[in-house]
Amino acid sequence: MSNGAVLVLSGPSGAGKSTIIDLASDKIGDYYFSVSTTTRAPRDGEVHGRDYFFATKEEFERDIKEGNFLEYAEVHGNYYGTSLKPVLEALKNGKLVIFDIDVQGHRLVREALGDIVVSAFITPPSLKELERRLKSRRSDDLEIINKRLKNAKEEIKAIDEYDFVIINDDANIAAKEFIAIASAARNRMDSKRAKDFIKKWLNG
Ligand code: ADP
Ligand code: 5GP
Repeated sequence: MSNGAVLVLSGPSGAGKSTIIDLASDKIGDYYFSVSTTTRAPRDGEVHGRDYFFATKEEFERDIKEGNFLEYAEVHGNYYGTSLKPVLEALKNGKLVIFDIDVQGHRLVREALGDIVVSAFITPPSLKELERRLKSRRSDDLEIINKRLKNAKEEIKAIDEYDFVIINDDANIAAKEFIAIASAARNRMDSKRAKDFIKKWLNG
């Protein structure tokens, strides 16, 4: 997995992670977006296998037992997890693997994959603006929105665990920043990569 790179994106639900990835997707080269598995219900317009793999609690717990997850966490009362196999496959093929996972997931991925990880925290300029966007997305009812806002107040405290921050005020500017960070992730040096490169360089 020497040439692959890992870019973890976190940020409160409603921060604009999907919007930014969509805007930047044709400008960041060959990448694999890690599709998570979740036990939460699909939102209108979400597609199984593209946005998430939607699973029952029983199916998810079976996957945990079988060791199929690189990491998983409980967020807003539902399970969310990253399957290990497709990630390893994409890394082996030299792809940039992008994760949209929460702050707990970021810590676990760092533990598991070490210095190949680059991370960015995405957030709207303020809590108030986050609330406005969650309400205007019209995909969740008020109780769920309040749960997400409560969670966001905790998540923001982990912002200093990330390599970069993207303040999503103007989405086009945020997408440009994301493209620069994706490029940095691809060029990040790590010990395994350095060893492979030096060997090739000396013999090239
Ligand atoms: P996430 O994937 O982080 O949960 P979304 O990409 O779904 O967030 O964005 C949440 C809502 O905010 C969506 O309705 C989206 O259209 C809107 N949005 C995203 N970025 C901006 C922005 N810069 N300014 C205004 N609205 C935005
Ligand atoms: P949403 O329900 O808005 O799609 O996602 C809620 C939260 O779960 C977001 O913070 C998102 O980043 C996080 N999340 C999505 N998939 C995963 C995953 O596989 N693992 C972890 N740890 N968090 C995830």
